[in-house]
Amino acid sequence: MKAIVIGAGIGGMSSAIALEKKGFSTQVFEAVKEMKPVGAAISIWPNGVKCLNALGMGEKIKAIGGDMRTMAYFDYRNASPLTQFSMAPLVQRVGEKPYPVVRAELQNMLIDHYGKSRIQFGMRLVAIDQNSEGVTVTFEDGSQAQGDFLIAADGTHSVARPYVLEKAAPRRYAGYVNWNGLVAVDEAIAPASQWTTYVGEGKRVSLMPVSEQRFYFFFDVPLPLGLAENRETLKADLKNYFAGWCPAVQTLIDTLDVSTTNRVEIHDIDPFDQFVKGRVALLGDAAHSTTPDIGQGGCAAIEDAVVLAEILASHSLGIEDSLQRYQQRRTVRTRDLVLKARKRCEVTHAVNPQQTEAWYQELRSETGERILAGLCETIEGGPLG
Ligand code: FAD
Repeated sequence: MKAIVIGAGIGGMSSAIALEKKGFSTQVFEAVKEMKPVGAAISIWPNGVKCLNALGMGEKIKAIGGDMRTMAYFDYRNASPLTQFSMAPLVQRVGEKPYPVVRAELQNMLIDHYGKSRIQFGMRLVAIDQNSEGVTVTFEDGSQAQGDFLIAADGTHSVARPYVLEKAAPRRYAGYVNWNGLVAVDEAIAPASQWTTYVGEGKRVSLMPVSEQRFYFFFDVPLPLGLAENRETLKADLKNYFAGWCPAVQTLIDTLDVSTTNRVEIHDIDPFDQFVKGRVALLGDAAHSTTPDIGQGGCAAIEDAVVLAEILASHSLGIEDSLQRYQQRRTVRTRDLVLKARKRCEVTHAVNPQQTEAWYQELRSETGERILAGLCETIEGGPLG
């Protein structure tokens, strides 16, 4: 059995690795000639880590993961802690650590595990055709490939999605812009092994420790869609958006490297229930695009891959039957994640300012118990518990 996998992102590579581990042969096609991940880093929560462990990459993810021991929310004006607590109870309850990782390092880990030379880069999928025997894909250069089934992990702008749904699924602007990048750990900005978030005015500034004494940082600001992006004014823009914020935030803006700072207008897609058409299955952001507010989009793609391979290997009624079972398992879980992230996004970014103010007040009496319980519930909803 041969799978064609479209996309060499987190979803595509995880699926190719998971399928090969179960004895399927795979061929991966990626549109770009060279991978340049959008976004500096990503948090792989224990549900994602457990899946990577199951795929044989446990030691590798541990080696590139940051050491995140405590979590804190600070007041934006004076950096006084609203709440600050250990993450050890989470690790103990779910049985695995979370790992914030540099995105390029995660991407390289997956690609190297599979074998970079086996991936066909510069191959952009433009058309899909299938019959009862298999699937044929056509690329931009006119070339074609055949397989028994197709895993389309071609991201949020998926060309396979309208083929599967037979209609468009528009992306929805979530109402805020995110800037992200990496800086050297500096205790004047935040404690080295803490996930620190400064909150106020419906904005946030967050720092997570990644490997080699670096922080992954991000700024969120509610803004209209389509504002001009100008790297030359990036620091001045951030200084303006974060005027009156505490010295740690000003130091972060002074320190960051504008040439490697990304600016992303955050979107998601209303969840839908069809991931599969015959022998073609959507996976990762192609199937469920979420805002990053609970840090689960990439983790969900890895979960998809593990579930997909497990079902294909353990059922014998044929590809189409197995893909339907994959769809049944994953639509419920990923709808929940997308809607949870959307809700968190709205509270964090002052869609309803009173609700956001109430959340800031709630943080003042938070012992960590409620926040960790919420994180654990999300994690334990994953396929490996
Ligand atoms: P992608 O990473 O988009 O990969 C798709 C691949 O397909 C790309 O390489 C692309 O070039 C290729 N491709 C596209 N079209 C074609 C085509 N026609 N033919 C061939 N190839 C094609 N998730 C987390 O788990 N934790 C986090 O902390 C987190 N933080 C985030 C922060 C931000 C700011 C953002 C924007 C997202 C974040 N996410 C996070 C979400 C995560 O980045 C995505 O869910 C994840 O990258 C999805 O992986 P994917 O493989 O499905 O898609």
